This record gives sequence, structure tokens and C-alpha cells, in this order.
Amino acid sequence: SRAAAQDVAPGRVGAAKPEVINLGANTLSIGPAKSALQQIAESAPDSGGYPGKEARDFMSTLSEQLGVPEDHISVYPGSGTPLGLAVMTFTGPERSLVTADPTYEQSWRTAPKVGGKVIKIPQRADNSHDVQAMCAADPKAGIVYICNPNNPTGAITTRKDIEYALAHKPAGSILLIDEAYIHFSDNAASVVDLVPTHPDLLVLRTFSKLYGMAGLRLGYAVAQPATLEKMNFYGGGSVALTTFVAGTASLRDAKLVPERRKMIAKGRNETIAWLEKKGHRCTKSESNCFMVEIGRDAKEFQKAMATWGVMVGRSWPGFETWPRISVGTEEEMARFRAAFVQVMAGRTG
Ligand code: PLP
Repeated sequence: SRAAAQDVAPGRVGAAKPEVINLGANTLSIGPAKSALQQIAESAPDSGGYPGKEARDFMSTLSEQLGVPEDHISVYPGSGTPLGLAVMTFTGPERSLVTADPTYEQSWRTAPKVGGKVIKIPQRADNSHDVQAMCAADPKAGIVYICNPNNPTGAITTRKDIEYALAHKPAGSILLIDEAYIHFSDNAASVVDLVPTHPDLLVLRTFSKLYGMAGLRLGYAVAQPATLEKMNFYGGGSVALTTFVAGTASLRDAKLVPERRKMIAKGRNETIAWLEKKGHRCTKSESNCFMVEIGRDAKEFQKAMATWGVMVGRSWPGFETWPRISVGTEEEMARFRAAFVQVMAGRTG
């Protein structure tokens, strides 16, 4: 009954509709770090001018932390921009895109626009990337794309596998490592440090995920200058002054990454354990998202969850009964579990 439903669904107290929560976009509702918000407030009045010192401070802080020279970094409004630029630059009628299946599909949509064929390689049983098959897929590959940790599975590709890909990828192809979710994982090793010695390596990062800055738009590419120059031929957009200061403050906030990583890991592991106990298989995630086997159409599930004010992610072709769930705060995961119970019992809110 409705009354019984209200007892178990936190946020459904009384007649008032609960706040809608978004566990569908791999973003964090807690938003930017306090220190970032403070810097935005302080510098907003200076926004009558273009970013100068703010951009330089960000660049020098980032370059120092990454241990690569500034001319190995390009900054963009998000990492979707350089991802698009790279695919448009390095794939084409003679140069395919090789990716895992499933993975983040932006590149799947972009490559065909420039005549690039998309070659999808199924993931291994443990949800990791089959780097051997990916490297052997097409001698004319323009890009081999690895999302680490992967979206939507949350699974990681080991550094050993990425080193294998660097050594065995087709000659002349770019190995594109999308590290949008790297900060959430204890075991996924960044390969930014390999960029200065590998001209075909391109690493992308964003502030949209762990840093809680999706709405502020900030991301960057790390590659050797010749690669960046090719990608940036038509420009890549510019970043707001307030966004630069928020980025610098976030980078300087030493506790931000470990604290948020810990919070998300706890929410993820508890939720996955709870789902598995109920008999639902989940992907092996080290990120702020995972896929869960629900044994029914994910689109219908998504609609039913929304009636309880809980937005969950979509499913991927071939994985129609495996919706992607983003991991949020403790309260949000409690809302997810309560709504899940209702929806699996056939009740809508
Ligand atoms: N790469 C991956 C793997 C993503 O999941 C996303 C966003 O969801 C992006 C890149 C692009 O995000 P943004 O442009 O906000 O950095």
C-alpha cells in the first residue's frame, strides 16, 4: 500500500513529494569543494576581465602536481571537448576507432561523423578491457580508446595492460586513456607520467566527477605538444575565470580526493553488497558507478525509479537488463535502496 511504501522510503514522508535525486549522470550532488566555492565568490567581481593570472596559476599548479611540463597540457571546458577533438583529428575513412563494449559512447557517435569505423571489442568476463584483442583488431586503427575506470562498469584496466597496449597498438595510432573517473579508484594507476616518453599517448581528465564541478566545465588533455597542436587546430573553447580559480583551489585541497574517494567507495561497496545479497549481479566497480543485473527491462526500471524521485542511469546496447547506477551520498544510497525495493515489488510512487 501507499502508506506501507512511505514507511520504507526515506524522503516520502507525508504528502510532500521528495526531492528528486540524480543517480543517473555520474556526478556528485555535494558539488564543488568549500575552498573552491570560496574562491569563486572572491574572484567573481573580477570577471569583467579575461582570465590571466587565474589561468596561469591553474596551469602551474596542475603542471607541478602532474609532473609534466605546461606545454604537455591543454585546458578545455570539460573533457568531452578534447575527446571529440581527438576523435575528429585521429580517426577518419582510413583510420578506425577501437573501443571496449560497453564503454562511454561519445567517441562511437563522433567517429562516424568523420568517416571513421567503430570497432567494439567485448570486455573480458571480469569487466576489464581486452587489450590484446583491442590491439589486434585493426592495423589501421586511428585511436585505441580505454576509459579507466570504465564508464559504465566502473572496472579498471591495470597499468600492466595499458603498458601492453602502448607497446602493441597499431603503428601510428593514438592510445587515448580517458581518466575521467581515475580519482575514485585505489588501484587504477594514472599513466600521465608516461606521456613525456610516449608521443602516441593522450590522457584526458575532468573536474566533472570527483571534484563536483560538472556545471563549472573544466577538463584537460595531457599529451606531447605535437599531438595537442593537431587536436587544437580549430581551438577547443575557453574556460571561465571563476572556473579556473575553483580548479586551482580544488587541486590545492589535499583532503578532497581521499575523503570523497572514501565516501564513494563506502556507498558503492555497501550498495553492491546489498544488491548481491538480493541475488543481483553487479559489475566489479572501483568508480562512482556500476551496472546491476535486474532481470527486466532497464528502461521500465528507470521510469519506475523516477516515480520515487530517484533518477538512475540508462542501459547499454546488449546489456538491456543492466542499468547503470551512480553512487552518491549515504542518504542518496538509502533512497536508492528504498525505491529499489518498491520498484522490484511492482509499486510506483
Ligand atoms: N569521459 C567520460 C568517461 C565521461 O563519463 C564523461 C561524462 O560523463 C566525459 C568524458 C565528459 O565529461 P565532461 O565534459 O563533463 O568532462
